[in-house]
Amino acid sequence: MTAMVTRACDIVLLGPPGAGKGTQAKRLAAAFELLHVSTGDLLRDEIARRTELGSEAKAFMVKGELVPDELVGKMLMGLLHSQAASGGCVYDGYPRTTAQAALLDGVLAELARRIDAVLFIGVPDEVIISRMDGRRSCSECGAVFHLTGNPPRQDGVCDACGGALGQREDDRAEVVVERLRVYRHYTQPLLDLYRHRGNLTEVDGLGGVDEVFGRLRAALESCRR
Ligand SMILES: [Zn+2]
Repeated sequence: MTAMVTRACDIVLLGPPGAGKGTQAKRLAAAFELLHVSTGDLLRDEIARRTELGSEAKAFMVKGELVPDELVGKMLMGLLHSQAASGGCVYDGYPRTTAQAALLDGVLAELARRIDAVLFIGVPDEVIISRMDGRRSCSECGAVFHLTGNPPRQDGVCDACGGALGQREDDRAEVVVERLRVYRHYTQPLLDLYRHRGNLTEVDGLGGVDEVFGRLRAALESCRR
């Protein structure tokens, strides 16, 4: 008889902007007892805690420059060595490029871990554009509404705080089209890489949050234990 070993499970969750990655990543993390890893949150946390890596990152950000992959890699390394990450992680929208994928592989390899599954939430462009173009955000509290999916009780007014609702520049149709173009340019080679390795599963991202979550969960049942 060998001892029962619960090994770590590391999952990459990808999808175009507007596919609902953040929400689904949090739910997957809760359901499978994994750590939710968002590099944006990681950066903000390192900066807030005034770590050495955080101040290095901030120096790039104040100049309007991207934080170099190697620096984010060092932060990931620290995080993955923590107790909180020992059961595995859900990487929310990371990696974005094949260079970042190689970096994540290296970090995981040091812990004798590897990516167990890559889930891609697929949503047609026209659906993403209509989802994002219809978004209205509160200028006061940040609450998000949708003209058809989740309209405020009163036009242009936040249900939560009474603040004015407006459209974020990032959500305008022409900006979304450009974001999708850039996303595809960087992500297509990444998807090809994971597909070639045989660990890419495409999940239909149409429908409600619960429906999509059910599909993601089913795709992962084989991973945990
Ligand atoms: Zn509000």
